[in-house]
Amino acid sequence: MERTLSIIKPDAVKRNLIGHINQLIEKNNLKIIASKTHKLSKNEAESFYGVHKERPFFNSLVAFMTSGSVQVQVLEGENAIVSYREIMGATNPEDADEGTIRKLFAESIEANSVHGSDSSENASIEIAFFFSGLELI
Ligand code: GDP
Repeated sequence: MERTLSIIKPDAVKRNLIGHINQLIEKNNLKIIASKTHKLSKNEAESFYGVHKERPFFNSLVAFMTSGSVQVQVLEGENAIVSYREIMGATNPEDADEGTIRKLFAESIEANSVHGSDSSENASIEIAFFFSGLELI
């Protein structure tokens, strides 16, 4: 059993896609063990995406991620990290496989509907960024 952090990004929340995305998550045998709505502050978005701060799209990404509410979730299941990355599809929806969340719903390489942790180390850091131990029993 493994856990990963999922974020349903502002583009998808705005278009009422939380239910559609959760259905795909659950169909693929991942359990949503924690979930809440959050509006990221500029500081929080800059800190969460700190690894990208030298990239040309950093300011635009922070503006996008703070443009509306997000749904942050902890998913649990076998190989949850890799499994969710597969369900999400490639970063650029043009490259994403048929049936993936990003192929189905993403608007652009930036407004690509979902985030999922990319390693076990990052999953632990990202889950702790949003959820306290009490919320994860
Ligand atoms: P992910 O792990 O698939 O989410 O991709 P990355 O870690 O490489 O990038 C983080 C997020 O930055 C992506 O999910 C996009 O929202 C955004 N992003 C990545 N590449 C680009 C880009 O070339 N242009 C813009 N505007 N945003 C990007």
